Amino acid sequence: MSKFLHPKYQSLSCYVPGEQPRDKAYIKLNTNESPYPPSPEVIAAVDANAVADLRLYSDPEGKCLRQKLADRYRVAPENIYLANGSDDILSFAFMAYASDGEPVAFADITYGFYSVFAALYGSDAKILPLREDFSIDYRDYLGIDRTIFLANPNAPTGLALSVENIEKILESNPGRVVIIDEAYVDFGAESCLPLVHRYDNLLIVRTFSKSRSMAGARLGFAIASRGIIEDLNRIKFSTNPYNVNRLTLLAGAAAIDSDHYFIENCERIMKTRTKTEAALSALGFEVIPSKANFIFAKHNAMSGEAIYQALKERGILVRHFSSPRITEYNRITVGSEEEMASLLATLADILASS
Ligand code: PMP
Repeated sequence: MSKFLHPKYQSLSCYVPGEQPRDKAYIKLNTNESPYPPSPEVIAAVDANAVADLRLYSDPEGKCLRQKLADRYRVAPENIYLANGSDDILSFAFMAYASDGEPVAFADITYGFYSVFAALYGSDAKILPLREDFSIDYRDYLGIDRTIFLANPNAPTGLALSVENIEKILESNPGRVVIIDEAYVDFGAESCLPLVHRYDNLLIVRTFSKSRSMAGARLGFAIASRGIIEDLNRIKFSTNPYNVNRLTLLAGAAAIDSDHYFIENCERIMKTRTKTEAALSALGFEVIPSKANFIFAKHNAMSGEAIYQALKERGILVRHFSSPRITEYNRITVGSEEEMASLLATLADILASS
C-alpha cells in the first residue's frame, strides 16, 4: 500500500477470487466455470474481422445484444442493462442504493463480494444469519426497509428460495430495491423474471459466466424496471461508457442465437450433478441438495481443509472457505462426467487412506 491511498480504503479487505494456479494442469472445480466450451456459433462470431474491428470503440448502448436479450426474456430493451460481468452490476447496485451509510441487508453465508462492496461503499450492513440447515428464512427480510441482496440460488450452499417468498420480500419493502442475484438460476431454480413487470423495486442480476460458458468474456446483465436501469446507466455513463468490449458483445449475441446449445449444457450439468450428489453420499459425504452448478458437501471423518489439501495435492481444485460456520465444507463445481469420475475415485482413495 502506498502512503497516497485515501484513508477510507486503507482498511479494505478485498474479495479473494478462487485460485487460478498455473503450476500444473488441475481438474478445476473451484470457480464454477462450465466444463464445456461456448457454442460453435460463439466461437465463429469472434473471427478475424471482429478482431480487426477492435480499432473501433464498442457500442456503449449494446443495442443489438440488449434487443436479443429483451426478445429472449420478453421484456423491453429499456429493461436490460449490460455489464462487464455481473460483479460490476452488484458493485453499481451497492453504489446506487446502499452507499454512504444507507441500510442494506444480506445473509451471513452468501456471495463473499456483498460484504466487500458494503465496506467499499460505506453501507450500514445488517447481516442476517441463515438457519442451522443453511436455508434462508424469508421472514427475516419482511418489512426491514433496507436494500436487500439475495443470491438465488445462494452461493456457496446451492439452496434456493421460492419466487412466492421472494415476492413477499418485494411487497413488504416497497421503498427499497431488492437485488436478486441469479448467477446460478439456469441450473434448476425458479427465476424472478415474471415479477419484473409488477415490482419496480426488483433488480435481477444475471451472468453469461456459468451457464453460457463465457466466464472469460466478462458479460453480465440486469433485468429491472426502466427507472432502475436508468440508475445503472447513470453510473455507467459517469464511470466507463464502453464497459463491454466489442468481442464480448458479438459473443453474447451469438450465445443468445444458439440457445439450444446452452439449454442442452445446463441439462447435462444437472444430470451430472444428480449423479455426483448420490455418489458423494455413498462415500459418506453430507450433501446439501443443490440447484446450482456446484455441490456443497462435508465428510464427518475428515475436515474440510484436509479434503481440500488432499485433492489439491492430487491435481483437483475445489473451493474451501475458512469462515467458521462452513469450514467443514467444500464447494465442488460440477464438471464433465469424466472430471466427476476422477474426483470420486480420488476422494475414495483419500478417504480409504485417511
Ligand atoms: N454472483 C454470484 C453469486 C457468484 O457466485 C458470482 C461468481 N463469482 C458472481 C455473481 C459474479 O460473476 P461474474 O462477475 O463472472 O458475472
